[in-house]
Amino acid sequence: MELKNFDPEITDAIQGEAGREESTLNLIASENYPSKSVLAAQGSLLQNKYAEGYPHRRYYGGCEFVDKVEEIAVERAKRLFGADHVNVQPLSGVPANMATFFSLANFGDKIMGLALPHGGHLSHGYPVSFSGKWFKSVNYQVERDTEVLDYSNIAKLAEAEKPKIIICGASAYSRKIQFDKFREIADKVGAYLVTDMAHIAGIVAAGLHQSPIPYADVVTTTTHKSLRGPRSAMILCKSKWADNIDKWVFPGIHGGPHMHTIAAKAVCFKEALQPEFKDYINQVLLNAKTFENEFKKLGYRLVADGTDTHLLLVDLRSKKITGRDAEDVLTKASIIVNRNTIPYDPEKPLITSGIRIGTPATTTRGMKEPEIKKICGWIDKILTNPGDESNIQKIGAEVKELCKSFPVYNK
Ligand code: PLP
Repeated sequence: MELKNFDPEITDAIQGEAGREESTLNLIASENYPSKSVLAAQGSLLQNKYAEGYPHRRYYGGCEFVDKVEEIAVERAKRLFGADHVNVQPLSGVPANMATFFSLANFGDKIMGLALPHGGHLSHGYPVSFSGKWFKSVNYQVERDTEVLDYSNIAKLAEAEKPKIIICGASAYSRKIQFDKFREIADKVGAYLVTDMAHIAGIVAAGLHQSPIPYADVVTTTTHKSLRGPRSAMILCKSKWADNIDKWVFPGIHGGPHMHTIAAKAVCFKEALQPEFKDYINQVLLNAKTFENEFKKLGYRLVADGTDTHLLLVDLRSKKITGRDAEDVLTKASIIVNRNTIPYDPEKPLITSGIRIGTPATTTRGMKEPEIKKICGWIDKILTNPGDESNIQKIGAEVKELCKSFPVYNK
């Protein structure tokens, strides 16, 4: 029976979400809209197949087609990033990091990543995550005055702490990360270097950010952010680590890989190998720069004074509004952002002094500099007068009109 007839409640929720995605402006830096081809593979009957193991070394019969799918995905990922070895099975970003840390270190060893309130990720050693519970975790931070990474201070901390693994990569850091400098630091203290390039994978794939592949022992990434693929992840590593990584991914932390998602990753990698993908990422970066210029003209302070990636962090303290209130009031006008701590934030993590703004999703819709300027003006008008309901409604109507001109899937 068709879903809509059998389960109208779930159908309604899916249609509701489709309507929401079409009619709101998505400025969440970690989200994107994959193509219909990616969605078709992800929603395919490949999800029916159990395929524990690796191509031609499975624990189930009937794997001839899914073997092909996984081999194609691996070959494309290797080509896209120039990696020696790729494991496309991790189910998501955190499990990819888990398999990686287990491959390189033992329980109780020391790991060193960027602090969460400074832009790092939960899985880089935060106390409530497996990474902070099962490993001793020390964190480096961004500098108080510049809000960027200072590699000599990170080196000093590494010398003092002698971590087994140094993790670089972030969820909310707007400047480029110098992976070569991290390699030097790791070499000096005999640490392994792991890069989590989840946010910037698309930018790396397009050749517009230094690639971590030559420098890191292991690179992890999600596939659903700037890379514009399905909600999933992968691990890329030097040949030396291939066996260890493969064993920790399966049977270490999961059973059957999700073959439908691996097929969707393969489609995503094929898309990212096309010349148009570079144009897309170029525009993502131009749009983020446009936000930077507009916010500055309007008198906002930006963390790290701006961006050279797909995201920026806006410090709202001069506007006398918290990140939480800004998120709420912008949502009323169908502009979706997330509250975010700024470095050394005086507010609690649930309140925050900032918002994070990213451009991958609006760029996928085809928006360019003129639209970004318009959106930035709307954000300012709302944040300057958060109690002015009629203004919010008026802007909300304009947002809906703009969204109609840049459909996501309703083309
Ligand atoms: N690593 C980084 C840097 C991230 O930003 C994220 C998610 O935002 C993850 C890992 C986690 O990925 P997932 O939510 O797929 O577990």
